[in-house]
Amino acid sequence: MMNPQLFTNVKIFDGTGAPTFVGEALVDGNLIRAVARGNGGIPRESYYDVIDGKGMTLMPGLVEAHAHVTYSNMAQFSELGLIPIEEHTILALQNVKLMLDSGFTSLYSAASAKFRLEAVLRDAIDAGKFPGPRMRAASPELTATGGLGDERQYHTNHQGFELIADGPDEIRRTVRTLIREGVDTIKMNISGDMFAGRQGFARRLSYTEAEVAAAAEEAHMRGAWLSCHARADAAVKLALKYDFRVIYHCDFIEGETYDLLEAKRDSVFLAPAIGVIYATAYEAEPWGITREFVEKSELFTMIEQCPKVYGELRKRGLRVLPGGDYGFAWNPIGTNARDLEHFVNILGFTPADALMAATKWGGEIMDIPNLGLVSDGYLADLLLVDGDPVENIKLLQDRDNIKVVMKDGVYYKRLIPTPGM
Ligand SMILES: [Zn+2]
Repeated sequence: MMNPQLFTNVKIFDGTGAPTFVGEALVDGNLIRAVARGNGGIPRESYYDVIDGKGMTLMPGLVEAHAHVTYSNMAQFSELGLIPIEEHTILALQNVKLMLDSGFTSLYSAASAKFRLEAVLRDAIDAGKFPGPRMRAASPELTATGGLGDERQYHTNHQGFELIADGPDEIRRTVRTLIREGVDTIKMNISGDMFAGRQGFARRLSYTEAEVAAAAEEAHMRGAWLSCHARADAAVKLALKYDFRVIYHCDFIEGETYDLLEAKRDSVFLAPAIGVIYATAYEAEPWGITREFVEKSELFTMIEQCPKVYGELRKRGLRVLPGGDYGFAWNPIGTNARDLEHFVNILGFTPADALMAATKWGGEIMDIPNLGLVSDGYLADLLLVDGDPVENIKLLQDRDNIKVVMKDGVYYKRLIPTPGM
């Protein structure tokens, strides 16, 4: 068992959004046991390891709210379907390790690429067999025929990352099976998307109300969570009516939908997934995403809409979390901290608020009551960052700036001198 670790000579960003302060923090076992202002604020015991933070910033580990750690940084959805399960498992293990190395100590998944993959991954990490963040494991995206992710063609039956389910009965059987196999959250593509089907599908429903109701009834009955892809206003309305916990995108909401969301602000989490929109609009040309496609698929409109939609929703008290659909060729896994910069530049968050959303609210989306703050009694998921991310939100995008990653009181990464060595 490791000695208690006393971090001294650090600036502390505690996750609440309050200004950073010079202070100390004591980790004992897997918990933070004391936090004090000033150096020398925590009484020393001889058996403590004293870690000189050299003025670096101690902060809670980051939480990714829209993770796809089983994606392969592919340029086409259909590529995911071609990866055999054995290679896919290894790829996923590499991805979760990379996420931890990048400062993400927790992941809330927005969909797995294969049926059991994330549930198995989560269990292996929890059992200590492989390094990785805390995980909430998702199902593959439940999609209607012709919906987002249906990569089949009439003459083939080749699938991508999707799980096609049509009609209430098939949806019930699929949801029941997924929950039997251990997923924490069911992902459903209630609306269409600009990447699939005809122009304008992002503004339309892909599933009927009866289908959404069937999925929700099964998930609620069995104690699983629901999340959804919902760009269309009507899709967000259905998600709210049937108590989906996490709603992704919300690009085209209007009118009373703002009020409906506000009414559920204490139970619903939102993540715009701005990272993939931004990268697709401005940086995906080498992969064949033309300016013509970007304009036709309303990506610029979405980037324009985002500050209006999410500005209003924040004013109404909704929790809006970073998490940008990283896992595509132009938006690769490991660059997830870019979303913090997008939250500042595009959504108008202050850096401290963006970091609060990724830590304090991150703990809330994970549903772990003592996760996401540097505070007495909280889980020791901590980063030591060279520099102050509140002053420069881009710092976290360079893994080399993250000198310590601790999860559950255990060092995963320690690029600072070790006491007594
Ligand atoms: Zn996604």
